[in-house]
Order: sequence, then structure tokens, then C-alpha cells
Amino acid sequence: NAALSFRIRAAPLGPRFVLILAEDRSEALRVENVRRDFVANVSHELKTPIGAIMLLSEALVEAADDPEQVKFFANRMQLEGTRLSRLTREIIDLSRLQASDTMLGAGIVHVQDVLSLAADQSKVVADAKDIKLVIGADCGADVLGNSDLLLQCFHNLVSNAVQYSPAGSRVGVGARVVGDIVEVAVSDQGIGIAPQDQERIFERFFRVDQARSRNTGGTGLGLSIVRHVVENHGGDIRVWSRPGKGSTFTVRIPLADEATKVAHEAKRAE
Ligand code: ADP
Repeated sequence: NAALSFRIRAAPLGPRFVLILAEDRSEALRVENVRRDFVANVSHELKTPIGAIMLLSEALVEAADDPEQVKFFANRMQLEGTRLSRLTREIIDLSRLQASDTMLGAGIVHVQDVLSLAADQSKVVADAKDIKLVIGADCGADVLGNSDLLLQCFHNLVSNAVQYSPAGSRVGVGARVVGDIVEVAVSDQGIGIAPQDQERIFERFFRVDQARSRNTGGTGLGLSIVRHVVENHGGDIRVWSRPGKGSTFTVRIPLADEATKVAHEAKRAE
């Protein structure tokens, strides 16, 4: 198995014995490979907007006498700058999430509050596309977590649903309690995802359609961030999708138990 790696060390123990130590380095090697891939991907992704900004600035100098052209190149530069800033922010978010599975600033989070905020953040884009954003009734679920990270997670899911859906369609956001977990579903009637891509969309920088995602400002990092946030909260995420019909992303996170809620209330009151 190529993924297995051992470091063997031997030391003499007197005239008749040798101590042999075999250290399993497989996990260290895997982490190192993941890190190397990440750095290679990051460099590649950053080169695109940086290269574009450099070319556009040259064009801008050339076009100095033509106000229409100046406006055109300046607008394009602004777009690439926005893209670069989103990319760097998401890369930093993702490295932070990967570096630790603890949640700084964890508290009791009312799930419906986060879902309403996430839906609000996508309202302008949804309205512009005449997409109906429907949010379900409050199921009363509370989880122990970081509200900023959970907001980022549900914002990414709702904004993807809106982005990959046609005008006039419907995006639904709803939560329900199932035993001791809360199940949040974000569903759309959009372009859908082919079966062979459904696991890969959670990989860093993976996009089904590179050009389309780039043109709409996508980085390919959104779902990777979502998966890390959900897993850091002890949960999981699944996708159901049919090309041309739509997709449903289901996030499951354990509910905060009563003892944890009381303890956090008491800590807040201190
Ligand atoms: P991006 O910034 O490109 O949207 P994501 O990590 O959020 O990156 O998503 C990865 C890819 O998964 C997208 O490029 C898109 O191809 C696909 N995808 C994500 N959400 C949806 C959705 N709701 N409907 C269809 N395709 C989606």
C-alpha cells in the first residue's frame, strides 16, 4: 500500500540482541501531502487574479487618453480585486478551521436565528433573480457552537442554492429536530450536480464548471469551509441532487443538552 510509510531504526542491545523500532509515519506523510497540495492549489488560484490585475493595469496605462476604455479596464480591475480579496479571506478561514477542531467563543446558538440571518444575506441576490426564498418555522433547536462560523456555513449553502438556480425558482431553508440532533435542509430547484461530482464538491477548489464558477466570483472553497464547520460542531453533511432538477444539502448537528445550556447560561450571567 503506497499510503503506508514506516521509519525503521535499529540499536544493538548487547552482543546477541538488536532492538528494532518501526515508527508508523503514514499519517504524518498524509498530512504533509495534503499540506503540499493545498499550497500548490493556493498558488495556482492566486496567480489568476493577480495576473489579470497586472495585465489590466498595463492596458489602463495604454488607454489613458480614452475615458471609456479607462472606465472599462478600471471596472475589470475592481472585479478581479474583489475576487482576490474573497479568495484570500476564504483561504485564511479554511486554514484556521483545519488547524483546530476546537471552537473558540462557543456558546448556545439558536439555529433559527442563524438561518434567518443567512437567508437575509442572500435576499438581495434572490430578489434580483426573482427567486422565492422560503424559510420554515422555528423548531426550537439550540446547539453548542460558534455563531459566526455557523452563519458562514449556512450563508454558503443558501448563496450557492440561489447562485445555481434559475430565475423564478424556489429555495427552501428549514430545520427539524430528529432525536438528539437538528437537521437543517437547504434545497433548490437549480442545475443540480452529477452523481460523480457529488462527493468531490466538498474538496478544496473543486468546481463542476470552472469557468461558470469563476465568472460568478466562486472560489471553490465554500463547501469545503461548510464541511469543516459542520465537522468541528460534531456533525455531518450530505447532498442529494439530480441534474436539471435541483439539490438538497442536509446538515446534521447534535443538539445542546439541558445541562450544557444551564452551564452556559450561568457562565453568561457571571
Ligand atoms: P463555488 O465558490 O465555486 O460556489 P463551492 O465550494 O461553494 O464553490 O461549490 C463547489 C461547486 O459545487 C460549485 O462550483 C458548483 O459547481 C457546485 N455546487 C455547489 N452548490 C450547488 C448547488 N446548490 N447546485 C448546483 N451546484 C452546486
